Amino acid sequence: MRYSKSFIYTLKEDQKEAAIVSHNLLLRGGFIIKLASGIYNYLPLGLRVIRKVSDIVREEMNKAGAIEILMAAIQPAELWKESGRWNDYGKELLRIKDRGDRDFVFGPTHEEVVTDIVRRFVKSYKQMPINLYQIQTKFRDELRPRFGLMRGREFIMKDAYSFDKDEAGMDESYEKMRIAYNNIFRRCGLAFRSVEADTGSIGGKDSEEFMVLSNTGEDEIVVCDSCDYASNTERATSILEDEAGEELKLEKVKTPNKETIRDVCEYLNANPEFSAKALVYKNEKGEVFCFFIEGDDELNLVKAMRATDSVELEMVSDDELEKLNLKKGYIGPIDFPNKDIRVICDYRLKNRNNLVVGANEEGYHYVGAKYGRDFECELADLRVVKEGEICPKCKKGRLKKIRGIEVGHIFKLGQKYSKAMNATFLDENGKTIPYFMGCYGIGIGRTAQAAIEQNHDEYGIIWPISIAPFEIEIVSLDTRNKELVDFCDRLYDEMVDKGLDVLYDDRDERVGVKLNDMDLIGIPIRVIVGKKAFESGKVEVSLRRDRNKELIEKDDVIDKVLKLREMLYKEIEEGRK
Ligand code: ATP
Ligand code: MG
Repeated sequence: MRYSKSFIYTLKEDQKEAAIVSHNLLLRGGFIIKLASGIYNYLPLGLRVIRKVSDIVREEMNKAGAIEILMAAIQPAELWKESGRWNDYGKELLRIKDRGDRDFVFGPTHEEVVTDIVRRFVKSYKQMPINLYQIQTKFRDELRPRFGLMRGREFIMKDAYSFDKDEAGMDESYEKMRIAYNNIFRRCGLAFRSVEADTGSIGGKDSEEFMVLSNTGEDEIVVCDSCDYASNTERATSILEDEAGEELKLEKVKTPNKETIRDVCEYLNANPEFSAKALVYKNEKGEVFCFFIEGDDELNLVKAMRATDSVELEMVSDDELEKLNLKKGYIGPIDFPNKDIRVICDYRLKNRNNLVVGANEEGYHYVGAKYGRDFECELADLRVVKEGEICPKCKKGRLKKIRGIEVGHIFKLGQKYSKAMNATFLDENGKTIPYFMGCYGIGIGRTAQAAIEQNHDEYGIIWPISIAPFEIEIVSLDTRNKELVDFCDRLYDEMVDKGLDVLYDDRDERVGVKLNDMDLIGIPIRVIVGKKAFESGKVEVSLRRDRNKELIEKDDVIDKVLKLREMLYKEIEEGRK
């Protein structure tokens, strides 16, 4: 493509709305432009990247035996009522009405629609396994849309759904997707890792996320320093080396004006590891829960949601606490003052022989409290694991935390949707059975942007060749020199004839502008035709990643470019960056 005939507009200034580099570079490079919060237009360069990522995804999905379809984006509410998600999905679901006042949603995901399609045709075990996928625009009304394509409201997703006749079949379909996902992210040139994940509102059995490793990632991952254990912090567990402590007698003590558990422990000269703090939350159904965790621990909201079967949890305000008959700063599990509230303690507290806990009375705490003797309640795993704790898998290594961007997610759904939607087939014995399902998502835009987060420098983007908007850029630095222009034109035509993917900067622009744009846009292989070198029969060839220029004979340019191209693809194939 000739730059002069294209629609590429770069921006000099850093963009204020961008909190992370990759977002800034997408905007500055003229890849995308914002239309509304979390909603973007894709400009030619952005669209080309989206297409390249989609093509890789499509190839690997097809190779794994999945079949492409395209489902409607707008879905009738009836299907969501059948699955139960009309009520369960929460505020991310964009609900709309038609002129006849009928309810619809703009699909955030397609389990219902695909299950409805399959149940109409697939009546026998002989028709399975089957895996249907699409690449399509989704809408989720995210609470905090941010970081450009990373967390948009409208975004492009590849979603696939497998249907099997039994659990073993489902496991096999899942395994095929796991392999396909590894191929996809490797081919996109990303440093990534798969981790155990929570299944969230989609529900189901096993689930793994594919994380692009990056300090700016929204997800925190827990990894073991000696085995391959890797889990999203949302569901990570650990083995604790807790001591039970000495058994003491329960005693009520004065703790005036000490509102946080830390203050209380300091005042009582107690170890916060031997204290319980209360956290009061309510869910989307208005149910209220009081969670008790160790004073030094952090509540894991995802685990708390799991334990309470909630979709959303929101902290209860101080006013509401009053109304619930709870004394802020002094809430404790002994003689809990409100029978309508579900009280849940983290497992960790069960093993302590003496705890500092609130006395449900202004200015008082108990010391020496012991689970089973002084109080009892529901127990659950509620805490966020900490670095340095022992790995739950190898039981020797220590855990550490790193950050990642979730680009893909695979789930074993089991029969959740097929049961709810009465989507069944006849097995070998003529018995009616709901399908065993799996679902598999990849954020196309998020993947593209994650690649920038991992591959950039102070000058701009450094695209992995496999998803770059173009593989090669020719820049002519002297558009008044006819001989030089003729050469560039010919070089460009020849490359295009060879099927190469080339951007040709033929603009009548200043040298500095062209070179800066070239660095910003980040095309991996560059051919720069400048006046001086050209006069001695040479042109400069360089890679964006190191910007090291090599002078090449004019006639050898295409050969050189082909070699570099082959090398870059080979590196990606081998997983080298
Ligand atoms: P997250 O935890 O980031 O909200 P999710 O668990 O809701 O993600 P899934 O429902 O598993 O995401 O969706 C599949 C894939 O779609 C994700 O792995 C991610 O790559 C992409 N994705 C999800 N939400 C968004 C979004 N708001 N913007 C861009 N991509 C998204
Ligand atoms: Mg989400």
